[in-house]
Amino acid sequence: MDQIYDVIIVGGGPGGIAAAYLCHKQGLSHLLIESGKAVFHGISTTYPEGKNVYPSKPKDDPEPFMVEELRPPDKPVTVEKYIQYVQHFVQHEGLNVVTETQFENIETARDHQRVITTKGTFLARKILLAFGSSIPKELSVYGDAKMVAKSLDDPKKYVGLRTLVIGGGNSAADVIISILKAKRSANDKEPVYWAHVAETFDVNKETAQRLGEEILLGGNIRLLPGATPRIGEVDDEGVDRLVIRVAVHELPGGIERYNAMSFPMKNVIACIGSQGPTSTFDKIGVQTIACAEGVCQVAKEGDRLLLLTSEFESTRKGVYVIGGAISPSYMKITKGSIQEERHPNLIHTAINDAYHVISSIATKLKK
Ligand SMILES: Cc1cc2nc3c(=O)[nH]c(=O)nc-3n(C[C@H](O)[C@H](O)[C@H](O)COP(=O)(O)OP(=O)(O)OC[C@H]3O[C@@H](n4cnc5c(N)ncnc54)[C@H](O)[C@@H]3O)c2cc1C
Repeated sequence: MDQIYDVIIVGGGPGGIAAAYLCHKQGLSHLLIESGKAVFHGISTTYPEGKNVYPSKPKDDPEPFMVEELRPPDKPVTVEKYIQYVQHFVQHEGLNVVTETQFENIETARDHQRVITTKGTFLARKILLAFGSSIPKELSVYGDAKMVAKSLDDPKKYVGLRTLVIGGGNSAADVIISILKAKRSANDKEPVYWAHVAETFDVNKETAQRLGEEILLGGNIRLLPGATPRIGEVDDEGVDRLVIRVAVHELPGGIERYNAMSFPMKNVIACIGSQGPTSTFDKIGVQTIACAEGVCQVAKEGDRLLLLTSEFESTRKGVYVIGGAISPSYMKITKGSIQEERHPNLIHTAINDAYHVISSIATKLKK
């Protein structure tokens, strides 16, 4: 029979790593599932290069960092240094982590829960969701576009390839700049196509300047404004491809003629932004409440807030949610009443949530 872990943790950010470390210290068996190539993927893909990491604490919160080992130093270090430290820490402590594995769903069995992922099913007594606040959006196309990358792990992978970057904002532009740089140093002249559904691209001045520099230095970039990803398909040779419509010509009689391009999905990166985790909560069947006018102070009218106990357990028994995934506020259930609770999206909050949940789980499992 497959191993049943005491705790399966989804997401290797500060919250998830703190939880795995605390399980390890408390003698609870654990498995941490991270969708990125390495832990702290969320941070490494959202912080600008060289940004300092601050050990900020929410106002009015008297609690120190409950896992001192993961606290960002008082004298701020760059995000690259902090990530390097944490990755070394995970290795040194021997935490049980699987990467490049995406959480998909939960099924309940008689005496355990089944965690469904892209790399198979794992079994657990308790599940801790620490997947942060931003879930990359999926491309909405006919067919399947799961093979399309949502972020840039290694620009060198695209050297020698005609690459397609989808998205009209700063993150798409940043990805293009990195790929153009890698191509330039490898003397690769293959172009990078930049597609966006709108007719105009929307980047800030500083990013536009850096992009302009790359173009002046010989960057081969081809713009595809008004382009729409349409179909994800597998071709006759078994290659996953993305078909993108780049122009439509209206002909008489209601007929349309399309121009389309088809790229191997491995050549494509979609930087189309992220969304909150509400759709994931709906999928796994944990309850949320929509904020009515005048009831919520942090959330806006219509926002859906997760219902959680004071120990961060959701309405699905044995499934806990912490950190950025429940920021900026959630609905706290206490002694028969429900109240909106502020929950700032900070490293401190994610780590301390993990501390409270794992302490509570340890007490329950050791009973
Ligand atoms: C630009 C920027 C600067 C910031 N600076 C600071 C700062 O200086 N100090 C501070 O305290 N806070 C800062 N923050 C906030 C801080 O980074 C977050 O509060 C913190 O990262 C939240 O931690 P977390 O563990 O909840 O989630 P995250 O750090 O978001 O980690 C979630 C992890 O889950 C993974 N994941 C997501 N979905 C899945 C899935 N389906 N399956 C498997 N894995 C999945 C992600 O890849 C990610 O690695 C900053 C945030 C940003 C965007």
